[in-house]
Amino acid sequence: MKLPIYMDNNSTTRCDPRVVEAMVPFFTEKYGNAASRNHSFGWDAEEGVDHARKQIAKVINSDSKEIVFTSGATESNNLALKGVAEMYKEKGDHIITSSTEHRAVIDTAKALEKKGFKVTYLPVDKAGMINPEDVRNAITDKTILISIMFANNEIGTIHPVKEIGKIAKEKGVLFHCDATQAVGKIPVDVQETGIDLMSFTGHKIYGPKGIGALYVRRKAPRVRIVPLIDGGGHERGMRSGTLPVPLIVGFGRAIELCSQEMEEETIRIKALRDRLQDGIMSAMEEVYLNGHPTERLPGNLNISFAYVEGEALLMGVKEIALSSGSACTSATLEPSYVLRALGVGSDLAHSSIRFGLGRFTTAEEVEYTIDRMLKAVNHLREMSPLYEMAKEGIDLKSVQWAAH
Ligand SMILES: *Cc1c(COP(=O)(O)O)cnc(C)c1O
Repeated sequence: MKLPIYMDNNSTTRCDPRVVEAMVPFFTEKYGNAASRNHSFGWDAEEGVDHARKQIAKVINSDSKEIVFTSGATESNNLALKGVAEMYKEKGDHIITSSTEHRAVIDTAKALEKKGFKVTYLPVDKAGMINPEDVRNAITDKTILISIMFANNEIGTIHPVKEIGKIAKEKGVLFHCDATQAVGKIPVDVQETGIDLMSFTGHKIYGPKGIGALYVRRKAPRVRIVPLIDGGGHERGMRSGTLPVPLIVGFGRAIELCSQEMEEETIRIKALRDRLQDGIMSAMEEVYLNGHPTERLPGNLNISFAYVEGEALLMGVKEIALSSGSACTSATLEPSYVLRALGVGSDLAHSSIRFGLGRFTTAEEVEYTIDRMLKAVNHLREMSPLYEMAKEGIDLKSVQWAAH
């Protein structure tokens, strides 16, 4: 086994060698501009893009004309929310989203609030799940968009997207879904779920960084958006700029591989994740699972280790790449807003670690991680006066702390 171990696949993934292989010719030989219509370099590039567009459309059950290439899911989310808000502002000024969305949605919604739009941030339950009835109850005659993610990037909880899509259709409100963590990992079908706009990205599914897509429905209903970027009118006017052909080709190949291998891969990754979860949780006291016990992404595991500071724990297992519930949100060590939204207290939010397993995770790495986590947590707890007091049966809530 080689160190360091990469176990942060919700942040990004290693590019699959088969994806790199598909991309190489588009750097070295077929390097034309896909918009050049009068020579073979352009035609080759255009063919690469067309093929990738078909690969992507097929996996999400859409038409290839409904795929708009962007630089990633952050841009796709911006384009969806701002593009719809600007286009439909005469119709209404209200947007519904949730409190556990990715920053790319939350911050875009906040930017729209500054421009006068009204945003409802729906709460989630203890497992991080949205109640579709809350969505229904939040809809007013001014609502123009619902934006709810497919699966959460921190805790892996999978939302009841199909029910939300049904409500959106019933009420005639557009439904955007940030499906960045779901596409390529679990079945995502824009017809079955009634999604009208959908964001996703290459680098979370073993493809390259810097390429993403926004699915924009063309019929029933035909969705229209105002572009963020003006220019040559690429991507049917919705996103101008020369297409990054090698990245697009890699994105297409990556999603195709995910789809072909999904069934087998899900079983394998889930078994490793369950072993990791069990290995840690059965051997330690006062550890808590964050997220839904069953409706969860196969590779995600988020655990709070009481009396241990997440950042300190990460320092103790430096040879394993993990993410803590305080670091990923900001530079200011705020506890994760996602965990806070589940009702997790500030202490336990600061004690949380996210394990992201993926295609290249091995059983050996999982065993090593279990062993290292047990040792590191026990070591930190041995040094913790709080842990000692708790073990002695002192109720920490009753302790009078001196003020600094
Ligand atoms: C990673 C991620 C994003 C951002 O994607 P980029 O392609 O890096 O911009 C957005 N939403 C979710 C849920 C993510 O996990």
